[in-house]
Amino acid sequence: MRLRKVKNVEEKIKEFDGLIISEPEKHKGNWNKLFGNDNPIHLEIGMGKGKFIIEKAKREPNVNFIGCELVQSIIYKAAKSVKDVPNLLMINYDALKLGEVFDKGEIGKIYLNFSDPWPKSRHEKRRLTSDSFLNVYREIKASDGVIEFKTDNRGLFEYSVMSLNNNGFEFLDISFDLHNDGRENIVTTEYEDRFSAKGNVIYFIKVKEK
Ligand code: SAH
Repeated sequence: MRLRKVKNVEEKIKEFDGLIISEPEKHKGNWNKLFGNDNPIHLEIGMGKGKFIIEKAKREPNVNFIGCELVQSIIYKAAKSVKDVPNLLMINYDALKLGEVFDKGEIGKIYLNFSDPWPKSRHEKRRLTSDSFLNVYREIKASDGVIEFKTDNRGLFEYSVMSLNNNGFEFLDISFDLHNDGRENIVTTEYEDRFSAKGNVIYFIKVKEK
């Protein structure tokens, strides 16, 4: 995601104390306590400016949402758009290390939306659907929890189908044109709006562990 760097973002992020959780490792195994209820926790990885997860949290008040984003300037922008959404928290974290933040089974569902495609094969390890990331998701996800993935990038879509299959996930749903196969109430992301306005097809995958 391209974005002008926010000045003094390190300091500014502290304004959002109860929303952007610093030292999230301290809450490992206790996220439900932080939310103050026993509702399931759904995680979006690479949430960008947060349009999708903010809308989801409003539509599903009985689910707790956590948005994970690597880049500080971007999570800061996301936090600025949140107003009174008690079932939403954010963490500034690298998805590869989420095993330090969540206990086994603590996450009920994972969303990956428009992850960076990293088309060069020497960058394969950076793709959020590569082996090492999938191992992390398996580590933190409830065994019956699903992963939902959306992209407009054909290369990343094909790669992800193969990688999920090779890693033993079971396909529950797949779409080669998400916006034109009769689905209703789709919550879209910033990238999704931008790319579908350009005429790009949106691909969708939903998997669970076998
Ligand atoms: N989901 C948003 C943004 C997509 S861009 C949308 O659909 O509009 C991909 C985002 O993933 C970027 O903001 C990038 O900073 C973030 N990201 C990339 N690698 C990550 C990682 N390892 N951990 C957490 N976030 C990551």
